[in-house]
Parts: sequence; structure tokens; C-alpha cells
Amino acid sequence: MTTTSPTTSPITLAAGVVTGKDYLALVKACKDGHYALPAVNVVGTNSINAVLEAAAKNKSDVIVQLSNGGAEFYAGKGFPDSFQAKVLGAVSAAHHVHMMAKHYGVCVVLHTDHANKKLIPWVEAMLDHGEAYYKEHGRPLFSSHMIDLSEEPLDANIAECARLLKRMAAIDMSIEIELGCTGGEEDGVGSDDIDNARLYTQPEDVLKAYETLAPIGHFSVAASFGNVHGVYAPGNVKLRPDILKNSQDLVQRVKGLGENPLDLVFHGGSGSDKGQIAETLGYGVFKMNIDTDTQFAFAKPIGDFVKANAQAFATQIDPESGKPFKKEYDPRTWLRVGEKGIVERLSEAFADLKSTGKSVARPE
Ligand SMILES: [Zn+2]
Repeated sequence: MTTTSPTTSPITLAAGVVTGKDYLALVKACKDGHYALPAVNVVGTNSINAVLEAAAKNKSDVIVQLSNGGAEFYAGKGFPDSFQAKVLGAVSAAHHVHMMAKHYGVCVVLHTDHANKKLIPWVEAMLDHGEAYYKEHGRPLFSSHMIDLSEEPLDANIAECARLLKRMAAIDMSIEIELGCTGGEEDGVGSDDIDNARLYTQPEDVLKAYETLAPIGHFSVAASFGNVHGVYAPGNVKLRPDILKNSQDLVQRVKGLGENPLDLVFHGGSGSDKGQIAETLGYGVFKMNIDTDTQFAFAKPIGDFVKANAQAFATQIDPESGKPFKKEYDPRTWLRVGEKGIVERLSEAFADLKSTGKSVARPE
């Protein structure tokens, strides 16, 4: 028998932010097609627009996400109340994405990143806004929120996620949970100092989460298989993608489900070996977080530009020729250079995750 791999996905969705059933259909398309979407941490319209531009250019769907720190930055570091800034910044960014995404012609998942115990009130405040948005529009503001209680005892972790998922499921939202521990640190969440066994998600823990959460609503799992936030010298990260298979197999066997029943998330994708990224795609990973690499991709070309035009960043007029430097120091010039850096790096990410050309968005 010969099979030709389809060049277009069997499903199509309206372009723009996807939530509820559409989100689940997109996740299924990823897993069935053995590809994943990059989830890019954004901090402002520059990074959001660059992510949307990159997705459109590569005809891939994409995940836009905000950490609590990114949301706070979006609201403005000078905003008088730090907690309110984290809430309103995330809401404001979400409105921007809702406004713009459909015009880029791709499907966009809107998500928030790690929320540990002390950040639960942040998530609950975003849910207040999400519920109000749902009342008005019939769909949620965000596709999903992540709750990271991996530092808490397992039962407390799952019970709190269940409580929040009830609220999210009522407005067609999904939850991302963390079991095991991602190494490194992100926005003050996580730690370098954890014992090695915890770096690998235990299949029994995933089964327990499945049994509690699946009856309530949709959840995905940030699985730990040696992945680490941030980019470190080679040799420091020992990824074991096959670990993911153990959780999939246990849940599949015990619950009598099809292959890869779990929707898995790969945290700390920056700096990872490309072969091992590819390997995770066979084990039900539909989302890979990327932050550190896109930060550097934004900064590097701006650094180069500033170096190449150093005088324009020191004086408004060339002291020798008298020529104004307005074109060089105009923020639109060098911010655009950074945006292009993000677009270029994400083009590589789409290729690594095999999502290039696979957008399920219906052409207009
Ligand atoms: Zn993470």
C-alpha cells in the first residue's frame, strides 16, 4: 500500500484566535500530523507582531503566550500596581492578538505561562476578565492558562488544577499543568537545585492527573524529560524524549485509549538538540515553548545595528558631515531589525517542529 502524506490538513478553521472545540481540533491535527507549534513568550506588540508575521510567512499556526513578567512588562514597568499590571497587561495583549491575528491568516492559540502557588490569584483575576469576555462574545479571552504547582505535593497540585479547570471548562478554556519539574528558571519560577528523579515525569502521576482532570475538561501536561529553561553550555542538558512514551503508554493501556492519548508540552525548547525535538513529535508533543532563543534573536541584530551605527546612538547629527541621524535612531528602524530577527529564528522553529506549511486556517 502506498500512502501519500497530505500537504493540507484534513480540518480547516477560521483564521484568528482559536478556543474551545477549535483549539482541541488544532491540537489533534498537530498530534495526528506529528508536528508541534512553537509557543513564543511575548512582551509587547513588537514581539507579538513578529510572531504573527513569522507564522503567516511560514504558513504555520502558532501559540502566543505571556508569562506574568511579560504581562507586567506589556502593561508598563512604570504601572503603579505590579499585580494589576500582570492582569491588565495580559488582558491588553490578548485583545491585541484577537484584533490582529485573523488578519495574518493563521490560527493562533492564546496562552499564559507558569503560574505557581503565589500566582494563582493572577490566573483567577484573568479568569474574571475571561468570564466577562465570554458573556459578551460567547468565547473565552484566552485559549488556556498554565498552572505550575510542580513544587507542591502531587495531590495538592492535581486538586487545585481540578478546581481551576472547572472554572475554565465552563468558558471553553483548557488548562496546562506541570508534573515533574523543568530545570532552570523562568521569571523566578523553577530552580537549578532539584533532585534528578524529579526532572523526569512519573507515568503514575500522569495517570492520576488524567483520572481527575479528564472528566472535568481539557488539559495538557508540561512533561519533564530532562528539559531545562534557558540555554546552557552543551552537555548540561540530558534530554530523554522516550520518557514521554512511558506516560502515554500507561494512560493508553489503563484507560483503554488510542495511541498518544495525552497532549504533551515541551518546556525549555530553546537550545535543544534538533534530533531530540523531532523525536518528541512522535510522542504526542503538540507545543514547544521557546523564549530564550527568540529573546536573543531580537537582541542580536539590534546589537549589531547599534554597533554599526554607533554615532547615531550618541549624537542626533553627524559631527563630521552635519547629516541628521534621525533615520538610524528612529525606534521603528532598530525595533524592526529586532522583529526580523524573531521572524528568522521562528522560521527555523517551525521547520524543527515540522509545522511549516501546515496551518489549518481557511483561506479567506
Ligand atoms: Zn516553562
